[in-house]
Amino acid sequence: MDTVSIARKLINKISIYCEEELSFMEVCGTHTHEISRSGIRSMLPQNLTLLSGPGCPVCVTDEGIIDTAIEILSDNDVVLATFGDMVRVRGSHESIWDQLDKRKSIVIVYSPLDCLEIAKNNPEKQVVFFAVGFETTAPGIALVTKLAYENKYNNLSILTSLKMMPPVLHSILKDKQRKIHGIICPGHVAAVMGAGYFRFITEEYDLSAAVCGFDTSNIAAGLYFLSKQSTADSGGAFLNLYRNCVKEEGNRAAIKIMGEVFDIEDGKWRGIGEIKKSSLIINERYSSFDALKRFSTRPKIFASKENCNCRDVLLGNIRPDECRLFGKACTPQKPSGPCMISAEGSCSAYYKYWEAGFYGG
Ligand code: SF4
Repeated sequence: MDTVSIARKLINKISIYCEEELSFMEVCGTHTHEISRSGIRSMLPQNLTLLSGPGCPVCVTDEGIIDTAIEILSDNDVVLATFGDMVRVRGSHESIWDQLDKRKSIVIVYSPLDCLEIAKNNPEKQVVFFAVGFETTAPGIALVTKLAYENKYNNLSILTSLKMMPPVLHSILKDKQRKIHGIICPGHVAAVMGAGYFRFITEEYDLSAAVCGFDTSNIAAGLYFLSKQSTADSGGAFLNLYRNCVKEEGNRAAIKIMGEVFDIEDGKWRGIGEIKKSSLIINERYSSFDALKRFSTRPKIFASKENCNCRDVLLGNIRPDECRLFGKACTPQKPSGPCMISAEGSCSAYYKYWEAGFYGG
């Protein structure tokens, strides 16, 4: 049987467990896109809602650190390297992309390792890698920092905006007003940090959680498990459905290098605010490769004035299509907020398949 048929079979069975209203949250941009692309949402019973949490790294990158990247870029000797969607998101006033008009050097990279090559080829420039992401990209960024240190790439530095998943999940799950009955855990983060990294969801909040991979049948299996478990007397349960990639203890080499290069500190999340111990920053040993130190600056403080509803989308308070701007004032061609700008953003995922008539929200 193919994966779509398996998914359909599982989803058809879900309705028997959905006598009451249920809401499940996924916290991974790739899951959000696959759920939209596959049409899973349109097959679910009416009283089962899927919410998309803060799983898109570009969407949660704070305005203040974007302003800092722009400030560093004002130095004519700087080449700023970053991931594609990051350049289009505005800080307090402008985006990194807007700096192109001022003849600034901006390079889009696909891998953190590209930055070593850029630094090597531009010895007269200061290359700054604006590194955003979650635990998934953090090991690669730690590796680049370590290689730059060991090989004395002294014209390379890293501006980090690296976030950790458990603290933001704690802040969502602690809010009892928010009715979430289960979590689809992000498979990529779990592949690095281990399935055990997410067991707190069940152990501390008595909620069911499933680590899922990215094909339709795996996500459907996760939804089936969460629905079935919601009616069980035994309370929350935890299941790793992505065992071919996710070990209980994670990827030891990746975790080791992160521990070697980063410290944990409080972090600002766009639209959400400060969350205790949720950010990875470059530690003392590698501090000469920290762009904040190299350029004697700090992340700017900025009180968000966004008039879009990304905060509510990121926290699972509303679905993207419940934002009053969705598909009207806010489209991928003319985005109002980061959740529509980033290809991983939930508004972008909803819009893409909604526009294609394959949405069923
Ligand atoms: Fe923000 Fe646009 Fe999404 Fe509304 S539709 S939450 S304005 S990104």
